[in-house]
Amino acid sequence: MRTIEFEQVRRTVESLCIAACYELPDDVRTALEAAAAKESNPPAAKILAQLLDNARIAADERIPLCQDTGLTVVFVEQGAELVLPPPSQDGPATLHEAVNEGVQAGYENGFLRKSVVADPLHARTNTQTNAPAILHHIFVPGDKLRISVMAKGGGCENKSQFRMFRPTAEASDVADWIVEVVRSAGADACPPFVVGVGIGGNFESSCLLSKTALLRSLGEPHPDGFYAQMERELMARINALGIGPLGLGGDTTALGVQIETAPCHIASLPVAVNIECHSHRHKTAIL
Ligand code: SF4
Repeated sequence: MRTIEFEQVRRTVESLCIAACYELPDDVRTALEAAAAKESNPPAAKILAQLLDNARIAADERIPLCQDTGLTVVFVEQGAELVLPPPSQDGPATLHEAVNEGVQAGYENGFLRKSVVADPLHARTNTQTNAPAILHHIFVPGDKLRISVMAKGGGCENKSQFRMFRPTAEASDVADWIVEVVRSAGADACPPFVVGVGIGGNFESSCLLSKTALLRSLGEPHPDGFYAQMERELMARINALGIGPLGLGGDTTALGVQIETAPCHIASLPVAVNIECHSHRHKTAIL
């Protein structure tokens, strides 16, 4: 059995938080470049060029891509042949602690805005650490530890939606609703978007599917031809909405539509849409 110390997890999460907030992933930059090259609306093309400039300056000067450095969502895939050993005396005692301490260090040392309030409804006092993170942990075959960190902006998360369809709904009903969710997100969620869609599972897992869909590389279609076609059609319909970059019109409302699916109950058809803004920040490390 391989072992990895919690301290190594903590350090990795710290550096992933900083890298995610400073460096736009290559696939997002490539998608912005492609959109800028074919955008027919001159003001929209100019905004796309400015978004690319912003990404270049952030990476060069080691500053955040956006003032909202997000709620940190951490995905950990732990190989079944890998052991996270009992903690040393002073270090983090659990995976949760290691992740949260890594987030705290990343946001402090990277000069990233801390955006988490401890109580959601009445006190809403800032935790001053950007912790706790949202942690999703699963076991997979192998002996590696894969850690993905997403800095998820509040403005776009606020526009995400869930709906439980009747199982008799047609694919066109689902597609119409997805387009409507994007239309209602509008300029508030900082387009162009990456649209994560979760279809199937149940109430909570369809929302998680819509989030994990965002981790897939842009331009990589769903492996099932039916859903790959649905992604293409949704992308065309969403870009025909004319919302455009930052909501000022144009051909580029989405950079990608990514669907993930799962089996579901015979009586259910859960669908979730997770809206992601143009500042689509995520980084992965494999230990
Ligand atoms: S939605 Fe995205 S781009 Fe807009 S303010 Fe939030 S993080 Fe920044």
